[in-house]
Amino acid sequence: MTIPFNRPTPFGSELEYIKQAIESTHLSGDGFFTKKCHAWIEEHVGCKKALLTHSCTAALEMAAILANIGVGDEVIMPSYTFVSTANAFVLRGGIPVFVDIRPDTLNIDENKIETCITEKTKAIVVVHYAGVVCEMDSILAIAKKYDLIVIEDAAQAIYSKYKGKPAGSFGHMAAFSFHETKNLISGEGGALVLNDSSLIERAEIIREKGTNRSKFFRGQVDKYTWVDLGSSYLPGEITAAFLFAQLENAKAITEKRLQVWNSYHKSFEELETKGITKRPVIPQNCEHNAHMYYFIFPSLDLRQNFINQMKSEGIHCVFHYIPLHSSPAGKQFGRTGSPMTNTDRISNTLVRLPIFCDLLASESSLIINKTIHFLEG
Ligand SMILES: *Cc1c(COP(=O)(O)O)cnc(C)c1O
Repeated sequence: MTIPFNRPTPFGSELEYIKQAIESTHLSGDGFFTKKCHAWIEEHVGCKKALLTHSCTAALEMAAILANIGVGDEVIMPSYTFVSTANAFVLRGGIPVFVDIRPDTLNIDENKIETCITEKTKAIVVVHYAGVVCEMDSILAIAKKYDLIVIEDAAQAIYSKYKGKPAGSFGHMAAFSFHETKNLISGEGGALVLNDSSLIERAEIIREKGTNRSKFFRGQVDKYTWVDLGSSYLPGEITAAFLFAQLENAKAITEKRLQVWNSYHKSFEELETKGITKRPVIPQNCEHNAHMYYFIFPSLDLRQNFINQMKSEGIHCVFHYIPLHSSPAGKQFGRTGSPMTNTDRISNTLVRLPIFCDLLASESSLIINKTIHFLEG
């Protein structure tokens, strides 16, 4: 038996909706299923506007244009994140300023943000790692004090909450991912959500190649033309049809992941008590979406031995980000705003276990047994 790290699968009416999309003869973007997805996201995230994109990367690129990031503008963000968090801003000439993460949630350390702010700072990009929302109250207060734009990279955080409010509802903008490695999927896919209604009209233009085509389709102008910067950021209807079937089942999918997460968490409690590993920390004020289950080991060697041993048993466990501040492009385009102590340590010692919604009970018990056997041995 082999257990992959992730096994993306349809959950409900994906095939039926794709058939409907094909039969509707509207295969390009912004048709029936895209509108259904927009309505779902607007209702569940509680944002002013949702716009599907072909990836979270695309949504972040749109956010960088909407934030008017230009050459030399500084954007504060964690180093412990995916490349797109930074790249979207570098494409506009922005400079990522990397801040260390907290040792508990592995989210940006809100107490280290303020000292990184300069005359050039334009925005703060937060990443809700593993679907655990950042300390948004403090971050929003800092942003308000210095008049900065807040963008949530909520790629991993659909259906998560902080103090009862959904991820994606805190910043001026937020970006979600529906890549097959995330909780709700469409192969490749994403969404930009806007909480500031003054950004909506320009966002629609940027997403439609810099044209006012959305206005044209609504009958608000009689022809459409090139009016601003833009690109093609929208997905086709087949992707939206798949995604809508997933969104409809968001609660059930999240509950299934939480079941796996909770069974891991309970089973590994003793390993933590004995000081062998550290388990994820979920703050009291956060409802997470079980995007990820990880361990933090005392050393890089133990982590590597664990990954190799599990691999030899057919179980695929993986580490995570190479910090952006130590990557070749990160060194070229960004700078560090604080010592990277936690980032460097976590990057070397974190390992992720397989978690997906149809992971069988027999598979999760095998993973648990092999893990305990290796770590107690
Ligand atoms: C997955 C991910 C992305 C990129 O998402 P895509 O949809 O693949 O573009 C960006 N940021 C974070 C934090 C992610 O986990």
